[in-house]
Amino acid sequence: MSEQDTLFSKIIRREIPADIVYEDDMALAFRDINPQAPIHILVIPKKPIPKLADAVPEDHALMGHLLLTAKRIAEEEGLQNGYRVVINNGPEAGQTVFHLHLHILGGRQMQWPPG
Ligand code: AMP
Repeated sequence: MSEQDTLFSKIIRREIPADIVYEDDMALAFRDINPQAPIHILVIPKKPIPKLADAVPEDHALMGHLLLTAKRIAEEEGLQNGYRVVINNGPEAGQTVFHLHLHILGGRQMQWPPG
């Protein structure tokens, strides 16, 4: 599997199953297979950007779209009392899948600082 062809690219291509909650021409969102909160959804760009540090100025609109998509999904999931949006960038941040993704976490009280 090349860096450009991760697990999440396979989900985009429907080669492996996922519980998809949102899709448009630029983004896909699906439930995390190992949820860390009652609601745990991943929002990914269809463009295979490995991590946030690899985003370029041309991705400006896409980056904004991913955040607004996260907001929209959080509303649809009923997270009116709050939620957390997390991007793990690189190994030291705990990133394990090298296709950029935003975690939406909600449905329980969050703690700070994160571990
Ligand atoms: P990160 O550690 O930020 O790279 O997050 C990767 C996330 O992807 C983890 O929370 C995993 O539980 C999740 N994950 C891995 N494989 C799958 C899958 N097949 N479907 C849904 N979520 C997955």
